[in-house]
Amino acid sequence: MANAFTRRDLMRVLSAAGFGAAVSTTRVPEAFGDAALPKARERQPIDPTTLAHPPARLSGGKVIQPERTLPVLHETDVLVAGGGAAGFAAAVAAARAGARTAIVERYGYFGGLWTGGLVLLVISTHARTGDKRIQVVRGVGDELLQRLSRLDHAVINYGPDRINPTSDAEATKYVMDEMTREAGVTVLLHCWAVDAVMDDRQVRGVVVESKEGRQAVLAKVVVDATGDGDVFAAAGAEHAQRLHAIGLVHLLGNVDRVSKEELEKIGGKNPRRLLGAPTPRPSVRWVNLRGPSADGLDVETLSRLELDHRRSIWRRVEQFREKSGDDDLFLMQVAPQLGVRTTRILAGTHCLTYAETREPKPFPDVVAVGGAQNGNHPPWPIPYGVLVPKQLDGLLAAGRCVSMGDRLIEDMRLIGSCLTTGHAAGAAAALAARDGCRPRDVEVPALQKLLKDQGAYLGI
Ligand SMILES: Cc1cc2nc3c(=O)[nH]c(=O)nc-3n(C[C@H](O)[C@H](O)[C@H](O)COP(=O)(O)OP(=O)(O)OC[C@H]3O[C@@H](n4cnc5c(N)ncnc54)[C@H](O)[C@@H]3O)c2cc1C
Repeated sequence: MANAFTRRDLMRVLSAAGFGAAVSTTRVPEAFGDAALPKARERQPIDPTTLAHPPARLSGGKVIQPERTLPVLHETDVLVAGGGAAGFAAAVAAARAGARTAIVERYGYFGGLWTGGLVLLVISTHARTGDKRIQVVRGVGDELLQRLSRLDHAVINYGPDRINPTSDAEATKYVMDEMTREAGVTVLLHCWAVDAVMDDRQVRGVVVESKEGRQAVLAKVVVDATGDGDVFAAAGAEHAQRLHAIGLVHLLGNVDRVSKEELEKIGGKNPRRLLGAPTPRPSVRWVNLRGPSADGLDVETLSRLELDHRRSIWRRVEQFREKSGDDDLFLMQVAPQLGVRTTRILAGTHCLTYAETREPKPFPDVVAVGGAQNGNHPPWPIPYGVLVPKQLDGLLAAGRCVSMGDRLIEDMRLIGSCLTTGHAAGAAAALAARDGCRPRDVEVPALQKLLKDQGAYLGI
């Protein structure tokens, strides 16, 4: 043992050879500049006897949450709740339209299911009229894809005559960060919207929960882009709830090393299907998973599916390795976010139906255009009414929870449609805040002009 080569010896040898940084913590790049960070605040221990923060109490077997005054964390014109594809596009569009804009996001990054859920394939970017292919995802969404195309290993299948690109999750998060910063959006991450702040029937902000506890963010208009309609549900808006397959996407590494012979050993109808679809990263593929149809709002269901899916993914990869004899293939990452496809759907002033999209109507209040999953059917106009709650004021919805018939869910929840409805909601919210009117009273021609000025495609 006297001659054993210890970790300390290894560190010494490596640092002498100039590899110190490779085995120790990476230095914070200069760009951070400590001065830019808010100063750490002294926090007083909570006094439960004051009105400011009385904790919940157990009384007669019931848990009572007493009334209390909440500190206002931030006040703004437009507040976007949720930073997925829709929320990101909404925030950038609203800020670019001149509104003071803030976004609250429960996780530490933007992109929602697209990035955190590792759903990398952006479907419905295009549609077709006759023999002409039309790009329907333009504006904020397309700018993001364009910027990705200028980075290494960030996107594939993007460009002229290409439909439905696949992006890298980390690159997408990075470009979303840059675009929201450049637009001047106030970003509040690690922050859940847990309740609506109401003034009669008008939403005036949201209650957020973070490590700081409960605070309020006030706004002239709120865009609910939580995917699950958390804010409009809390505000009492009419809505439906749907079950859908809940999956868990994952990435496999070293896929190029799986040989034809090894695949043949797996057998079955289509063993290559097990290896998923290509990503911008060399030799990495993403595997989509359907999973059981279940309630995506129920915490016990979500917990159970998370555990079950992870176990089944791990075992599936192990089985693949065993059966094929391939030692190189490995499970690179399981999505940090469970794949909840659909939960709450808003009852809007217009409920867009599948029939209306297959024989598309020229809605006078068109604010976005839907594409085709395979790029091969005509574009379908999306009217403003799908974003506007039937009765509630001060709020618009965007993304996978907008007002639609059940058959349309498969088209409307695609990333392309979420980018465009998000863009429309953000622009409309900015106009409502500027003009001091209810979102339902926004002048549609002015909204359409703003959207076109921001590069959106409306087909008119
Ligand atoms: C398994 C799976 C596979 C899919 N495959 C494809 C595909 O191949 N191609 C395609 O185009 N689409 C696909 N989809 C659909 C698509 O990914 C999503 O519908 C789309 O990304 C939804 O975008 P969104 O912004 O509306 O919602 P989300 O992506 O769900 O974003 C909502 C955001 O809000 C945040 N949030 C939620 N609640 C709160 C709260 N209370 N407070 C603060 N923040 C909150 C979330 O963290 C998230 O960032 C798939 C979906 C799943 C689940």
